Amino acid sequence: MEQIIFACTFLITLILLGFTFMRLRAFFKLCKPLKYDGKLKERLSLTARVAFGQTKILRKPIIGFLHALVFWGFLVITIGSIEMVIDGLFGLNRSLAFSGIGYDIITASGDIFSLIVLLGVFIFLLRRLFLKIRRFSGVELKPKNKLDANIALSFIILLMVSLIGMNTFDILLHKEALAGTYPISSSLAAWINHHNNTSILFHFFWWLHIVLIFAFANYLPYSKHFHVFMSIPNVFFSNLNPLTFLPAMPEVSKEVKLMLSGDAFQEPSDSAPSRFGVKDIEDITQNNYLDSLTCTQCGRCTEVCPANITGKLLSPRKIFVDVRNRMLEKGPFLNKAPKYDDHKALIGDYISHEELWACTTCNACAQECPLNISHPNLIMDMRRYLVLEEGQAPEELNVMFANIENNGAPWKFSPEDRLDWTQY
Ligand code: SF4
Ligand code: SF4
Repeated sequence: MEQIIFACTFLITLILLGFTFMRLRAFFKLCKPLKYDGKLKERLSLTARVAFGQTKILRKPIIGFLHALVFWGFLVITIGSIEMVIDGLFGLNRSLAFSGIGYDIITASGDIFSLIVLLGVFIFLLRRLFLKIRRFSGVELKPKNKLDANIALSFIILLMVSLIGMNTFDILLHKEALAGTYPISSSLAAWINHHNNTSILFHFFWWLHIVLIFAFANYLPYSKHFHVFMSIPNVFFSNLNPLTFLPAMPEVSKEVKLMLSGDAFQEPSDSAPSRFGVKDIEDITQNNYLDSLTCTQCGRCTEVCPANITGKLLSPRKIFVDVRNRMLEKGPFLNKAPKYDDHKALIGDYISHEELWACTTCNACAQECPLNISHPNLIMDMRRYLVLEEGQAPEELNVMFANIENNGAPWKFSPEDRLDWTQY
């Protein structure tokens, strides 16, 4: 009977997850294709360092180390969750125990990490609730964003409590016959020593833990904590170029190359010219959307942004919060009708011109982001749209553009006059 209930619960979880991932897949299909250069070795090395090694988050030594421990703990504890699914489906207990010494290592580290994660996340929650940390606030963070962070952290606390409870009562129930090593839970079991309802409590914690895992897995894609899943692919596909490298626009490059080769009129095309830059959600790349799903809203980017620090409207974190929200608003309608227009856009209704032109392109945000999210590239793409399609640039830039067009240089003097200074 327990197996049937488990199988039904698991099936419902998979169906709900399937629905969510189909929805996300449809959103990704609205974006321009993922940029991938095939540099597998370099990308695997980057992923090992930044995603698994947590090198960027460790720049803040204390809180960074705590976060890294929580992340590594999650990786180890996930193995235990997989085992629970196998146990639940086939009516077993500790089905991976056949792996011998490996099982001892995994269960021992999982047990220790469950306590570390519990303490770490408890500290994170207290810090959010009671300390006024500047980077945890901003216009882009509405009460629902703060509630989401608190819900996700509470979920994790309950997950760890139920895991330790499950292990503790499993030890009390099966004594020496239980496979694996559990340093923390053994100590707790020794302290409890005996309980009349050991079996009931073991089953209670087992079911509580697995139901929480299923519920959390379905909650995550709608939460900022989705980075638990998305951080690894996002770092893998992130920018390998030096941060200041600005990719050329393919549409413009093609025209320039044709003109330079003298073949400008050889390839007439009937297709409508694609958009220059980014105006709305359908113009972003899949990398940009992946960035928005990965953003943890930690605010490390905004904290170092010189524009934000000096009181400008720009907050780099807001750019990706807005991208995610805009996709949620327009994406479902675009999927039904590709030409859908709600007379709103990412630029203007979400991100103002003032925010976009406040960016100094210093790349401090991209440098600090622990998940290698690239803000300046998207900001530059939105500026490209404003300049190339709307002709809207700050007055100072318009003067410079006119000078480049007329004089081949940003200054107002003719190229013939450039060496005049040598006469004085
Ligand atoms: S973009 Fe990066 S640094 Fe900024 S809030 Fe998101 S995860 Fe944090
Ligand atoms: S690149 Fe722009 S958004 Fe990023 S930190 Fe510098 S000024 Fe701020």
